[in-house]
Amino acid sequence: MQKEKSAIVCGAGGFIGHHLVVKLKGEGYRTIGIDLKQPEFVPTAADEFIIGDLRDFHLVKDVFAKKSDEVYQLAADMGGAAYLFTGEHDADVMRNSAQINLNVAEVIKNLPTKIFFSSSACIYPRYNQQDPQNPKCSEVSAYPADPDSEYGWEKLFSERLYLSYLRNYGLDVRIARFHNVFGPEGTWRGGREKSPAAICRKVAEAKDGGEIEVWGNGKQTRSYLYISECVEGVRRLMKSDFSGPVNIGSEEMVSIDELANMVIEISGKRLIIKHVPGPIGVMGRNSDNGLVRGKLNWEPKQELRIGLEQTYKWIRKQVEQISIDDRKQRVSVTEVEPNYLHAHTS
Ligand code: NAD
Repeated sequence: MQKEKSAIVCGAGGFIGHHLVVKLKGEGYRTIGIDLKQPEFVPTAADEFIIGDLRDFHLVKDVFAKKSDEVYQLAADMGGAAYLFTGEHDADVMRNSAQINLNVAEVIKNLPTKIFFSSSACIYPRYNQQDPQNPKCSEVSAYPADPDSEYGWEKLFSERLYLSYLRNYGLDVRIARFHNVFGPEGTWRGGREKSPAAICRKVAEAKDGGEIEVWGNGKQTRSYLYISECVEGVRRLMKSDFSGPVNIGSEEMVSIDELANMVIEISGKRLIIKHVPGPIGVMGRNSDNGLVRGKLNWEPKQELRIGLEQTYKWIRKQVEQISIDDRKQRVSVTEVEPNYLHAHTS
């Protein structure tokens, strides 16, 4: 009988980590999730879920003492443009994420475990991403380095950290640079959400005939990767003998206005886009899939619109649920008020 494979997923309470656990379970893995928090929207599929802080070296040692064939390191102090590009969280982002990766690399170096590390398209140099229609994000273009955020610098440092453990200790590592992953059950409000979720929320909240705000002039470009294709890419990279770093992203580049118009069309509403100042990051970014095609004989192919339809549907449901909850709360307050007043006037 074949032995059951096992995996530890660091960051299993987060968006991609949660979906990865589901994917691994579907492939028959026994999974242990670890995170500061449980997944926000649905219960975890992990066989075991540890609430813990990976900045704590001893905790990492204890968790990794549980035997596993593979470790997926996705935990990071992370968010969308409003969290990463204002500069307000730079010190936390650098310290928290670097500390996690320093601990993980050091503990895993003596274990016979394969490790996956999630890097980001944010490592690519600013100087290659000024022209919205012609960004350059091939893997080799990462140097000379000039990421436009401390988040990107930390990812670049940690890529190099894991690669140095590969050279000096033979660490069996796989590194992917994700490009804007989106989908249902991801953060959609609160300041850490990314552009597809923020736009879906704004459209879902807007009244027909109204307007939505979009940061910048709307001409900045990006590509967006649907969550199921992201976790498929992770698994394919893990099964390959290529360490990376390699892009896992879509090559379907759109402007932010095009993204917003697609969501508006999906919603069936008539809305106007209003451009307002806000943190926007680089002017252009797109995945370059030459290397992933060559190494994995695979690349993400799903049209952006299909993923957006799923995501909009899910976010609209969240928005509706919140307004139902708000209404219920308002009703219960007005019900309570007369008694409250009575108690004080008698
Ligand atoms: P996420 O914020 O939803 O998930 C990250 C998880 O890490 C969170 O649940 C958080 O609680 C956990 N975490 C943070 N600090 C921790 C600590 N000290 N101890 C334990 N857990 C801790 O983010 P995500 O979108 O799921 O991203 C997963 C990974 O992929 C991250 O490393 C991120 O940098 C990378 N990435 C994501 C994208 C994207 O578009 N979502 C793009 C590029 C790279």
